[in-house]
Amino acid sequence: MTRRDMIKRTAGSAMIAGAAMATGQALLDAQRTGYPVRQGAYPSEGTRLIRPPGAVPEDEFLAGCIRCYRCQDACEPGAIHFFTESAGKHYHTPFIDPSVSPCTLCMKCTQTCPTHVLEPLQWEDRAKVDMATVTLREDMCLSHKAKALRNEQAMLMRLGEEPTEATGTDERRGPCGECFTVCPMRRRAIKLEPGAYLAPLVFEDQCVGCGLCEDICRVMVRGEPAIRVVPKRGTI
Ligand code: SF4
Ligand code: SF4
Ligand code: SF4
Repeated sequence: MTRRDMIKRTAGSAMIAGAAMATGQALLDAQRTGYPVRQGAYPSEGTRLIRPPGAVPEDEFLAGCIRCYRCQDACEPGAIHFFTESAGKHYHTPFIDPSVSPCTLCMKCTQTCPTHVLEPLQWEDRAKVDMATVTLREDMCLSHKAKALRNEQAMLMRLGEEPTEATGTDERRGPCGECFTVCPMRRRAIKLEPGAYLAPLVFEDQCVGCGLCEDICRVMVRGEPAIRVVPKRGTI
């Protein structure tokens, strides 16, 4: 091989390596800009209008609820609250606030309602419940954050760069999956991604809106939960 051939071969290898680095960097940049995947989706200013299980449509509910408080008396977990006069036409009607206490779907309130604006239900009927739905911010979820950091570190190592260190000693991340564990609709409303991170995937149309996931997530992240109930009847 002549000296000229060697120089050409070396230059070709360098170009290929450069192109690979550029592609890897582009992938890393795309991953950085593409992450977090979902964010800023919490529209809950004010109190979420979440009626107890089995509630009929809102107009019928307001017309039929006699403000007797029996549903609240039946609710052992203390999930049912009542609006005060400041809530206008909703005054003295029941609602659930998952940030205070979630609904365990025991269905006792539905069996107590004298006017049947809460349709009588059993635990086995839970798939019929339609209190609210759910959304997940992957940038706040411990599992998704751990997975994203690991992917970024792996990419940097492939590029021959120093892996990033976890920033902020107070930032929590790591395999969690507790929302999946507590969800009464697990494997339907919440599934776990395959792999070691126990990262949840949510399926909004299968969620009944009980708030058990939001409640446990608040404990796990020690603050604003990554997974939250979203009301279907708006806020007040
Ligand atoms: S189903 Fe049970 S936990 Fe849920 S609001 Fe009714 S009584 Fe309370
Ligand atoms: S409980 Fe919260 S932090 Fe844990 S996996 Fe579920 S969404 Fe993520
Ligand atoms: S996703 Fe959350 S709110 Fe929906 S059914 Fe499961 S635990 Fe309840």
